[in-house]
Amino acid sequence: MVIPAPNLVLPKDTPAPGKADYAGLKIGILALQGAFLEHANMLRRLGAAPAEVRLPGDLDSLDGLIIPGGESTTIGKLAEEFGLLEPMRQFISAGKSVWGTCAGLIFLARDIGATGSGGHVTPPRLPVIDITVNRNAFGRQVDSFEADIYPAFAPDGPPFRAVFIRAPRIQSVGEGVQVLARLEDGTIVAARQGQIMVTAFHPELTDDPRFHEYFLSLVKHFNR
Ligand code: GLN
Repeated sequence: MVIPAPNLVLPKDTPAPGKADYAGLKIGILALQGAFLEHANMLRRLGAAPAEVRLPGDLDSLDGLIIPGGESTTIGKLAEEFGLLEPMRQFISAGKSVWGTCAGLIFLARDIGATGSGGHVTPPRLPVIDITVNRNAFGRQVDSFEADIYPAFAPDGPPFRAVFIRAPRIQSVGEGVQVLARLEDGTIVAARQGQIMVTAFHPELTDDPRFHEYFLSLVKHFNR
């Protein structure tokens, strides 16, 4: 049994998922490396239009952007090589929503902690969300696992079965960061700061669209 953490209180500006129509929203998925097809399928299911992003020009007509799971060092190096770091920074500064899953979370985190393997490597990143994260820090014996979590935006719904694969561990979050979900032991596994969202797990590998729906609701909310 996972006990919902007591501080999962939604701020007033949090949009209610499930109430909006997402048709016409164009969501880019960084497609340099990693799991982008599954994200695309889930977005289509919700009525949004996915688009693969490889070059700066691909960002032009997007409403939001997903940085998928994969290998954060590879994603960072390729993003730099393809000249995407600065255009993505501008995209986010312009108020567009971005969601990092797993390696994507590492890519967006302000700080990389020293514990966890790979902690000493600092690949090119876009440190836009005020969290500190440790890579591969759930330990070798639990490389991959599943856990029930209770998303803050769906307090009455059934638990969300979260899939973790060599997942990063969020060690701490800054004051402006809203916790969206925790593990039973209190570990934060999903968070949001303004229009920037991160999940340590892979919602695109489940059949449950609630995190994608929540992201689309952020896109709509902040894209005014
Ligand atoms: N372990 C990977 C990293 O550190 C992340 C794994 C994932 O995205 N599933 O980049």
